[in-house]
Amino acid sequence: MPLSVEIITPEGKLLEVDDATHVLLPGSNGQIGILPGHSPLASSLDVGLIDIDRQAEESELLSTSGGFVEVHSDHVMVLAETAERADEIDVERAERALERAKEQLHRVEETERAELESAIARANTRLRAARSK
Ligand code: ATP
Repeated sequence: MPLSVEIITPEGKLLEVDDATHVLLPGSNGQIGILPGHSPLASSLDVGLIDIDRQAEESELLSTSGGFVEVHSDHVMVLAETAERADEIDVERAERALERAKEQLHRVEETERAELESAIARANTRLRAARSK
């Protein structure tokens, strides 16, 4: 039996499929691969790509800035801080965000660097997703 997958963001339900054969997620402690019949799991997610192989349809590729995943009874529920489908990513916006954060990185104190490094990781992940499609 295939997996059902739901991806929910603060803005609402971004994606729902019921024919996934494999789901790859950016777990905080490394990549998480889910196949049908996986044992129950809960994990936080890091910034990265979510790749969903489907039975009959083309695979789905998304970027996320992190969140949480729960797997139970062949259902994969992702609660994401932000997530975008690869083909809905605004490449120019991500490029601008990347340039802005890189430029600011040179000028800020050590204590302010973490937020800029997160912004760089988000933008790079969006660009990777958009360019993989
Ligand atoms: P920006 O500086 O461009 O706002 P950001 O990394 O600070 O980038 P976030 O705070 O992570 O943006 O996201 C805010 C909202 O905008 C989220 O709903 C996210 O999905 C969306 N978003 C951010 N960047 C893009 C993009 N390049 N294309 C499409 N949606 C985006």
